Amino acid sequence: MNISIKSILKAHDLRLTEPREHILQLFLDKAYALSQPYIESSVNAAIDRVTVYRTLKTFVEKGIIHKVPDDTETAHYALCSPACEGGHGHHHHDHVHFKCVSCNLTQCIDNVHIPKITLPTGYQFLEANLLVQGVCDKCHSA
Ligand SMILES: [Zn+2]
Ligand SMILES: [Zn+2]
Ligand SMILES: [Zn+2]
Repeated sequence: MNISIKSILKAHDLRLTEPREHILQLFLDKAYALSQPYIESSVNAAIDRVTVYRTLKTFVEKGIIHKVPDDTETAHYALCSPACEGGHGHHHHDHVHFKCVSCNLTQCIDNVHIPKITLPTGYQFLEANLLVQGVCDKCHSA
């Protein structure tokens, strides 16, 4: 049993269940965003689609993972980092996401933030997503 899975779930008041352990392990194994179809195919028949969906929803609500913007219709998620907790005492995702056109993987750029957006009077800001596309450092040096 991986100790960090246990401690992550415990820190977010979640009971350890097999689907949670399984799905969290997928995120810990990869340094980039995972698509919902990838997660579904990785857990294969072990966890049904509804449970995958519910587990991802719970992880998002608890601040373990966050939704990542994508230029396709597919939902992508990435592991939250300590940077999500910083700032004004609430969990936030104002960092830039980077999608590599070569390896097709999307990653969080935790130390690059979306510039402050000023909206016209009468508009209420909820959230901003920024997906930057280019060639990542690994593909660039390859
Ligand atoms: Zn987060
Ligand atoms: Zn790449
Ligand atoms: Zn992110």
